[in-house]
Amino acid sequence: MNANTTIEPNFSVNMSQQTVLTIYAHADDEVLPAAGTLRLMSEAGWKIHCLILTDGNLSRSSIKNIRHLEAEAAGKLIGATYEFHALEEGNFSTQAVIKVTEEAIKTWQPDLIITHAPQPEKYGHRDHEVCAIAVSNVATRKNISLWYSAPPVFLRGFEPNFFVDISSVIEEKIAAIGCYESEESKTFMQLDAILVLSRFWARELGQKDGYFEAFEISRQCVNANFFVALASSRNKVLN
Ligand SMILES: [Zn+2]
Repeated sequence: MNANTTIEPNFSVNMSQQTVLTIYAHADDEVLPAAGTLRLMSEAGWKIHCLILTDGNLSRSSIKNIRHLEAEAAGKLIGATYEFHALEEGNFSTQAVIKVTEEAIKTWQPDLIITHAPQPEKYGHRDHEVCAIAVSNVATRKNISLWYSAPPVFLRGFEPNFFVDISSVIEEKIAAIGCYESEESKTFMQLDAILVLSRFWARELGQKDGYFEAFEISRQCVNANFFVALASSRNKVLN
């Protein structure tokens, strides 16, 4: 894995009032890999909007409303608003995701999009793969910063190059995941699995303590002011 890392991001520096749009296939896909980071961003004044492509139509028929309520409860904890679409689980097309993504970009004008990692080596989750490919297509075409979040279980093909220290909000992350009570039988939703993965990323960074979330930055635009500030601080040192 790549060694370039940022372990203590300060999302508030010159970056207030940014908008993040997350696009995931299913409700709960957003909290597992990114709830801590999203919470830190919202604390720093960022606007967070979570788009979910499906509404649980493969699950029991009663699940749809439950899933919406669970997502909204999680949204309160991470400071996010939600939007559900009703694409057919296991069967939606790349084109359908492209359309939904383009509409959401028009509405939200995001500075950053976060989605599933495409994982060319595949780990068998068709919906995640289709979502990742379609969203990457649009973000690239529209020149919007794009991060991939860590997959829930098999990490094959995921190459993180950005790590966020979420130790200060680990309780909020656990609580946000806990909002999805209808999903709690999934093994990767269980507390020990969440903590183990957060600790795994810490070890990956050589950190003895703390909890982290990992991302792969696919596209990133950095405001030129950053470089100006960097150059003037260097000049001060030289003078
Ligand atoms: Zn999913």
